[in-house]
This record gives sequence, structure tokens and C-alpha cells, in this order.
Amino acid sequence: MRMRYISTRSTAQSVCFADAALRGLAEDGGLFIPISIPQYRSAVKNSISSMSFSEIGFETIKPFVEGEIPDNALMEIIEGAFNFEAPVVKVGSRGILELFHGPTAAFKDFGARFMARTFSYLRRGDSKPLTILVATSGDTGGAVASGFYGVEGIKVTVLYPKGRISPLQEKQIAGLGENISAIAVEGSFDDCQRMVKSAFSNKRICACLDMSSANSINISRLIPQAVYYAAASGKAAACNGEALLFCVPSGNFGNLTAGLYAREMGAPISGFIAATNINKTFPDYLESGSYKPCASVATISNAMDVGAPSNFERMQAHWPLSEMRHILKSFYVTDEETRLTIKTVHNRYAYTLDPHGAVGWFAAEQLEKQGKLNGAYVVVLETAHPAKFSDVVEPITGALPLPEQLVEAQNRLASSITIPAKDSALEAALLD
Ligand SMILES: *Cc1c(COP(=O)(O)O)cnc(C)c1O
Repeated sequence: MRMRYISTRSTAQSVCFADAALRGLAEDGGLFIPISIPQYRSAVKNSISSMSFSEIGFETIKPFVEGEIPDNALMEIIEGAFNFEAPVVKVGSRGILELFHGPTAAFKDFGARFMARTFSYLRRGDSKPLTILVATSGDTGGAVASGFYGVEGIKVTVLYPKGRISPLQEKQIAGLGENISAIAVEGSFDDCQRMVKSAFSNKRICACLDMSSANSINISRLIPQAVYYAAASGKAAACNGEALLFCVPSGNFGNLTAGLYAREMGAPISGFIAATNINKTFPDYLESGSYKPCASVATISNAMDVGAPSNFERMQAHWPLSEMRHILKSFYVTDEETRLTIKTVHNRYAYTLDPHGAVGWFAAEQLEKQGKLNGAYVVVLETAHPAKFSDVVEPITGALPLPEQLVEAQNRLASSITIPAKDSALEAALLD
């Protein structure tokens, strides 16, 4: 049976997977969610600990796309997208789920690579290429560019604020070439975002190009992230037998929502710890019961500097507060505590955490000290490679070698065009 998707803001209309994925956002401004969360077959639940990552990927994603992507095409997408490891390594009494072995060394590779191949499949047979337009303040652009690089039938144009992203980030975006073009905008990230928005409502551009966005709230970026939770929970169940908690360093809460999906489907997961930095809208919500989004505050775990987490709407649509309190614990961590954690874990276990993973580690440690984990086995998600944040990490731990995939990016030659922060300049560049 085909899955239907509804908006978080109204249940009146439903769309199929392809529409939800290619549109990104519902017409009423809400986020797409599946009308119900599917369940693993009992055969899967019973053998999850011995299944391969691809097999778990297939069983996890299939019910969300059934009737729209045939089995063999889905397997091909999965094997192409998840062509790197997601190991759980033992550090002290905890596990660390390393999600940074993809081409941009952050967990966003899972979602971006799956989305790219899915878009390509859904657009097969269209004579016009699909143009993905994306504005970035640095990291998302690299993951999207890399995810779509070389994918058939799709062109990507990334806008970034000239001179305001790191040289490595610029090479990740502007060093690929082929189907990836980079535009350096003489302005801020906000200018880039405004220009992208206006391009989507520009009739001349829309008449010439089929366009879509690769926004992080896209349901096709969320679903593939459930896979590594299911795979890691299977392995943990096989060797521990204790209750399992995943500790998730969170910003927009897409990663955590994907974990909640995996649990709901029947993966052997007891619950989650939502770890945040000082942007503590969610921990405050769990404690007080009222949701108060606010402006973000800059921290050293900057991918989580979010005061109004976009996926909160999804979580709220699926789970009432009482249930969230049952499944989730939450804890916020300061920059000072984050730095201290990087140092302590490095000295004690010779393991180097990045600032986001360190937020997770500290949150788990504190909740354990407070006696709130009841002896559960905690697996902390390490969302990025520490070398991506060398400015924070190296002063604490000493020199960090870049992982292979970042060395390769470092050696690329960035090539982009520069335009003023004007809508007309973007129009000219796109229609050139
Ligand atoms: C995006 C990101 C996060 C936050 O993930 P959400 O899904 O937005 O909660 C955490 N760590 C790193 C390194 C990231 O890039």
C-alpha cells in the first residue's frame, strides 16, 4: 500500500512520497509527515542484529516509498547513498556512533546522498534537468553539493556569502564542478536566502527551469536517518541486553525525529537523550510544558545554534507532551562544559570528540550522575569529525590530522562566479 503524507498544520489533504519529497514544504507552510509510522515485519525485528546495513536500510525505507520506488531501484539508491561505514565504537562504558565517515565528514551526508538519488529516480524520464537551488552559511551547501555531485538529471546551484565561509567550506562547494555550480554573493547569508526565495517566485525563472530546494526539513532527508539508529540498536541489542538510550546532539531536531521514527517502527530502543547547547528551547519545553522559540545564540557547537527547532512541529504532530516525556530526556550544555568534556574524554580514553559530540557526552554523563538513566547503555551520536572544528578542538587536544575525504576536498580548486546581492543578478546567472 502507498504511504500518504500530510502537513503538520492540517490533515485535510494528503500527497504521495514523490510530491512530499519534491515539494519540500506543504502549501500551508507545514512540514510533511507520514499519515502513520509503519512497523517492521516481525521477521525483521527478530533478526535485526544479524542484518546488513543495506538490508536494514531497505526494510526501514521501503514502507515510506512503496508503490513509488520499486524494490530494485530502492536497493540501488540505498547502496549508492550509504557507501560508507557507521560504526559504534566503545569509549569507556558508552558507545559512540560515528556518523562522520561520509564525504563531508558529518551525518548530513546520509540524508543528502539519499535525497539526491531519490530525486534523480523520481525525475527519471524528464527531459529537463531539475535545478536544486540552495543558500548556505557554510556546512549544508557542502553536504548538498557532495550529495548531488554526479547525480544524473540534476543540477545544483549553491549561493554562499562571499568571504564569509571557511576556505575548506568554499572548496567543498565550489571545487566540484560538473553538475554543481557555485555563486558567491557580495552580501550576507540572509541576502543569499532572500535571493533564493525570490527566485522560486520569479515567473521568468520558473518558466525556464524546473526547480526544487534541498531544505533540511525535506522528508526525504529525514527518513534515511532512521536507518543508522535501527542498525546500531540491532548491534547493541546483540551484545548488551540492557536498555538502550541514544544521546543525540540536536539543533533543528531532524536527527532526533528520525531516531523516534526508528523506535516507533519497532527497533529495540528504550529512549533518547536530546542534548543541546545553550540554545535550550527544547529542554525548557520538556520541563515546563510550554514551547517558547527564541533567537539563536552563537556557541562552539554552531551547527546546533537553533532557537526555534524546525522539526519540533513534526515531533509535536506525532507525540503528545506526556509521551515525549516518557521517551525522552533532555539536557543543555554550556561552551565551557563542552571544552572540558573534549579535554577529559581525550585524556581519559584517548578519543577526540568534536564539540557537538561533546555536548552529547556531557549530557549523558550528567543525567547518569543524577541517577536518571537507570543503568541503561548509552550510545552517543558523534555527528561530525573533530577535524572539521579544529579551531575549537586543536587548542585542547593538539594537532588533529584531517580525515582522507577532507584532505581531498582541501586539494580542490574553488571556482565560482561572483554576483551582487540583487535578485536580478541571480536571475541573469540562472538564465545565462
Ligand atoms: C546539523 C548538525 C547537528 C544538528 O542536527 P539536527 O538534525 O539539526 O538536530 C548536529 N551536529 C552537527 C555536526 C550538524 O551538522
